[in-house]
Amino acid sequence: MIKEGPLMSLPACPSPRVPTQHPSIPIQLADRPTWRGLVVPAITLRHRNGTPVLGEVDSDTVADCLIGQRCQLCDQGLEEVAVLMARPQDFVRGYVDEPAQHPWCATYTIRACPMLSGRLQRHRTSPRSARPCGDPRCQCASWNTTTPDAVIRAGQDADPWFSVRFSATDYTLRPSARGAPKGVSLRHLTRSKIRLVTPGRPSADDLAIIARLGLPWS
Ligand SMILES: [Zn+2]
Ligand SMILES: [Zn+2]
Repeated sequence: MIKEGPLMSLPACPSPRVPTQHPSIPIQLADRPTWRGLVVPAITLRHRNGTPVLGEVDSDTVADCLIGQRCQLCDQGLEEVAVLMARPQDFVRGYVDEPAQHPWCATYTIRACPMLSGRLQRHRTSPRSARPCGDPRCQCASWNTTTPDAVIRAGQDADPWFSVRFSATDYTLRPSARGAPKGVSLRHLTRSKIRLVTPGRPSADDLAIIARLGLPWS
């Protein structure tokens, strides 16, 4: 899918697209739960009373979506074409650890998500899930908010994000030694279409990967 080539110089960082706080909800998502005007992704972590912890995911639901080839936003089965959201390092490791989406769900996510729409320039310094809701029957007191990825990214600059549109016939999971899949493989995609979603605030490593792999940068 991606050719490795010599390092090339990159143009200036493109500016993020115009942010939209509350994009219109497509008809396919009309029945999905919303929170403050935004559709709540199916994989989002929730308190017992249903309050979502936006930006954080329930790992069991992620695994179910990955295995069941379901969309991370609407929880319905993927169809002929699916879309993954990938950061530069995801292309290097060869998989994306979050489930894919329907094309219309991906379009909505890109407008609604503060990271993908370019509204946030930095990751949060502490996860919202670190604040328990006070309901003694809620699982939130035992949520693991110190995953290695969250710890590494806390307070860091926003990543560049790319969308990867691919045929569902190429859908292949990257297995892990412990059973639950690590994510959707990028190495098995035969005819993918990669687009820049947001440049974020790329690190030197990100820029080197983008140049080496020839990822689109405008
Ligand atoms: Zn709770
Ligand atoms: Zn969907």
